[in-house]
Amino acid sequence: LTKSEEQEVVEAIRVAEKNTSGEIRVHIEKETSIAPIDRAVEVFHELKMDLTQERNGVIIYIAAKSKLFAIYGDKGINDKVSTDFWNTTKDIMLNHLKNGENKLALVKGIESAGKQLKKYFPYQDDDKDELSNEISKG
Ligand code: CA
Ligand code: CA
Repeated sequence: LTKSEEQEVVEAIRVAEKNTSGEIRVHIEKETSIAPIDRAVEVFHELKMDLTQERNGVIIYIAAKSKLFAIYGDKGINDKVSTDFWNTTKDIMLNHLKNGENKLALVKGIESAGKQLKKYFPYQDDDKDELSNEISKG
């Protein structure tokens, strides 16, 4: 991603978090030697994303060169939703990633994740930005 594309992604997170108390983070690295979902869980903990009050952090993980990605949500989310909860978001991302549209995949994926989260974790008036919106890189 270029610098300005990164800013668009950060902005998408900021906007999505205006609809939900859930916290979305993006981690991008070149490749992964393990399954993307396992790596996503690893990074999730490295970034201390389990420290949100409602345990409603979500990581969108991309291994750019490997063209792999995963979405992992914390316990608070998994307690409330079905296992196919992220499928819509994954499909949207996959369609864009296939076309090499990495930025679009992230922006649309974040929008979708925000909408999904809103149903279970609506925005609270006293909301805090518990996790940084900046992209994390491996
Ligand atoms: Ca928040
Ligand atoms: Ca945030």
